[in-house]
Formats: sequence, structure tokens, C-alpha cells
Amino acid sequence: MSQQATEQVYGHYIGGEWTEGSGDTFESENPATGETLATFRRGTAAEVDRALEAADEAFEEWRELSYIDRAEYLWDIYHELRERHQELGEIVTKECGKEISEGKADVTEAWHMVEWAAGNARHPHGDVVPSEVAGKDSYMRRKPRGVVGCITPWNFPVAIPFWHMAIALVEGNTVVWKPAEQTPWCGQIIAEMFEDAGIPDGVFNMVQGFGDAGAAITDDERVDTVLFTGSAEVGHGIADKVGGEPGKLAACEMGGKNGIVVTENADMDTAVHSAVMSSFKTTGQRCVSSERLIVHEDVYDEFKERFVDIAQDIAVGDPLEESTFMGPAIEADHVEKIHRHNELAREEGAEVLVDRFELEDSEIPEGHEEGAATAADGERSGSYANGHWVGPFVYEIDYESDLRCLNEECFGPHVALLEYSGDIEDAVEIHNDTPYGLAGAIISEDYRQLNYFRDHADIGLAYANLPCIGAEVQLPFGGVKKSGNGYPSAREAIEAVTERTAWTMNNA
Ligand code: NAP
Repeated sequence: MSQQATEQVYGHYIGGEWTEGSGDTFESENPATGETLATFRRGTAAEVDRALEAADEAFEEWRELSYIDRAEYLWDIYHELRERHQELGEIVTKECGKEISEGKADVTEAWHMVEWAAGNARHPHGDVVPSEVAGKDSYMRRKPRGVVGCITPWNFPVAIPFWHMAIALVEGNTVVWKPAEQTPWCGQIIAEMFEDAGIPDGVFNMVQGFGDAGAAITDDERVDTVLFTGSAEVGHGIADKVGGEPGKLAACEMGGKNGIVVTENADMDTAVHSAVMSSFKTTGQRCVSSERLIVHEDVYDEFKERFVDIAQDIAVGDPLEESTFMGPAIEADHVEKIHRHNELAREEGAEVLVDRFELEDSEIPEGHEEGAATAADGERSGSYANGHWVGPFVYEIDYESDLRCLNEECFGPHVALLEYSGDIEDAVEIHNDTPYGLAGAIISEDYRQLNYFRDHADIGLAYANLPCIGAEVQLPFGGVKKSGNGYPSAREAIEAVTERTAWTMNNA
């Protein structure tokens, strides 16, 4: 499938074959324009069943290949991701509305993960351990768990599937994957890559569809490990259900209510840059986006003035333009959700500093594609008028522990300013006061404060004097508390897709 939308209805990749399936059709939509990109089939229980059957059957042969041979298929995909960087970045941007630099970064992160997982095939995969008894050898060895069900979100539609699948496959598992309903085009293209790489039939399977198809995968007894990335609402449901079944494991990476602490001696340029990037890039729709800025009283007014000025002017626009800072929200339902969060903040006593939720007509990019439609009411011309546009919403509020607006993830350009007094201990107490524990940043020139934050912030990802954004695949990427259950990406994720065997052997 190329950049051009076609009349074709796309289906599922099961057991090495494309199948249309019997489910209803659904469409992939460009969130910047509302145009249909392509039409797909919803996966039903029947397609999921066939995919699991195929994965189950393929497992015994796949596990017998060497790590290096399994990794070869991934190296082919690595090269393809690199060669098609611009094209794939544009597809990500068209399908999920991320700015083009972010669309391309999604693809870059995917090849970084593939490189890590395939390269790791040449690294040690166990331990030789001293035995208590002379003449006895003791080892810890790893073996694959079996069939891995991968359920991924829309906001990193290329990178996150590879986080899951590259590691699972190189470790010797077979895979059944369901892409997010909003990004089936990316799903189709990734499945085509596995087909082109010649991966043996049944080792990789992709079923398109909605939450019901995801649940049919996670609930099935043939699935040994579920790798899930998405919202806490869905993830905890999966973890509770799967965790109760003997021998089954669910590794869930979920959302956050992330904060940035700006201390009294922070460099203000760094502080404002970190907050703007983290709160508004990708329209606040990333798991590490900041929705709480915790700023010391000595620098609060200066920070507020500079942050608010930028939020007032930030360019919302055509995500395919290199100069655009913020694209659209993913879909109409999500615009509604962001609106509800903004209203909740008002109800809980927020002083609203910037409200660009409803953008002016002049802020919506003009339709400049050939054949762009004219809106029926004539008010907004061009296809961009049909996009899901929202702008920044910034408020200040007196910190109280149980305010819902400070505890619930919005996943949009919605951010609270919180003033604190006292020392770093006071800031970190506020920072930690949410049920989530994914990411956070500290901006400070004082090493005592930086180290205190590193050691006491209840999060999995901590950034110091940096934007609260970004990932390096060789580091774990995952949260604590409500944000994750302890199997972040890369090295640690191997734990979720392998079993350990303690192997002791008498050599006497
Ligand atoms: P989501 O609504 O939880 O969906 C994630 C995936 O789960 C989708 O493929 C979805 O299918 C599927 N699903 C829904 N209900 C299911 C069920 N009952 N059983 C099995 N699968 C089911 O999340 P999203 O809106 O796509 O993504 C945004 C969320 O992901 C945010 O909370 C964000 O913070 C989080 N996120 C976390 C990380 C991280 O690394 N920690 C990274 C990125 C995003 P449908 O598409 O059909 O709903």
C-alpha cells in the first residue's frame, strides 16, 4: 500500500496470507482534513481465532531457529524503515496528525528499536552462576514464552508496535498484533514489511479492528504474554483479567499525569522550553506530555508570563508543513474529551490564562490541496476546515490533593500552573501527588535539588534540564504506580516474553 488512498478494502495478515475477513468496514481518517485515507475490515472473533491458531502452530519451528537467524528478518525491516523514512513519516502524519518532524521521529524510533532487538541477538542471554558443589555447572537460561498478543495505541503507530514485536520475535515468540483503530494504514504497511521480509507463515499475524478484537486476543488461552501500551482504563482491565490466569502474563505501559518542577534557581529559557515542548508538541497527545507545571514562587510570575505568551501565539497548523508546531487532535471524540477536561478545571476553580480550545477561523490552515472541499456553510474553506483542531488551554489553580483536574490524564494541550513555596522536598511532594508515575522533569541549577528529584520522584522516566519528552531505546521506558506494571521496553521487556530456566548439570 502506497501513499495513495484506493478503493480497495484492506483486511488482515494471518498465517502468511492476506484475508479480507467478514467484519464490517471502517475507515482511516486524516485528522487534519477529515478525508478518508483507506477502508479496512474490522477483525472478528473468527479472524482472531485463525491468527492465534497460526501463531500457535508456527511457534515450535520458529523457536528452533537461532537468535541470529530470527534477527535476520528484522534487519530487512530495519533497512526498509530507513530507506522509506520520509514516505513513512508522511503516512504517520496523515493518519494521526502529528507534525511531520514527529511523524518521521516515530519511524526513526521504530528502527532504533529494531536495531536494538536484532543487535541484541548477539549478546548474552543468560548467566553462568558459581555452583555450591564442585563438579556441578549452574546456568540461568532463557526460553520464549510462546504466543505474544500485542495491543498498541494510535499515538506512536510505527514505533510502539516495533517496541513490542521486535523483541518478542527475536526472543523466539510468535505474534498476533492488533493496531489501534485510528491507525490501520500504519498497521497495513508494517504487515506488508513482514511479508516482504519473508518471515515464515504464522510467525507474525496482524488483525485490524477495535477493542473487541483486542479483547479476543488478550482473553484467549493460547496467548502466553500480552504486551499492551495504551490508556490506564484499558490496561488495568487487561492486567487484572490476564494476571488472574495461571501461566499468563500481561505487561502494560499506560498513561501519565506528568509534571515539571521549576525551582527558584532554574534557567528560565530551559524551563520555558521544556514546558512548551512537553505540553504542546504533538498537541499534548503523548504519554510523557506535561499537564502540571510546579513552579517556585520566586520565579512563578516570570515563568507564567513567558509560558502564557508562547501558548497564546503557538502555531497550530497543517502538520505536513515543516514549520507547524502543533497539529490537530486525533478525532472528534478526543476533542470532546479535551473539552470536558477544560470544563472540569473551570468547575474546580481554575483561573484560565489561555483558552484557545476553539480556534478562530483564521487559525485553521487554508485548504491548499488540489480539489479541497469547500465547507457547506461557506465559513471555513478548504479541507482543513474538517479537521479536529484545538489550541492550548492553560490555567492556574491552588494546589489541592484531590482535585480531579490535577489527577486525571487529559492527553491534550491542557496544562495547570501550580505555585509552590519552600524547598525541593515540597515541590516533589506535589509532583508525586497523583495516582500516575510515568514521567517528569526538573529544571534547576542546583545539584542537590536534581539528585533529590532523581531519588524521590515516583516516576519511571525522569528528565533533568531537558524537555519532558523523548525516549532512548537502550533505556527502560515505562512507569510506576498506575502507569505501568514493571516491564518497560528493551532489556526489561525481555522478562515479559521469556521464561527463565535454572539449569544445573553434573559434570563430575
Ligand atoms: P487505548 O484507548 O487504551 O487503546 C489502546 C489499544 O487497546 C488500542 O489498540 C485499542 O483498540 C485497544 N483496546 C481497547 N479496548 C480494549 C480491550 N477491552 N481489550 C483489549 N484491547 C483493547 O489508548 P489510545 O487512546 O490508543 O492511546 C492513548 C493512551 O496511551 C494514553 O493514555 C497514553 O498516555 C497511553 N500511552 C502510553 C505509552 C507508554 O509507553 N506508557 C505510550 C503511548 C501512549 P481501539 O483502537 O479499537 O480502541
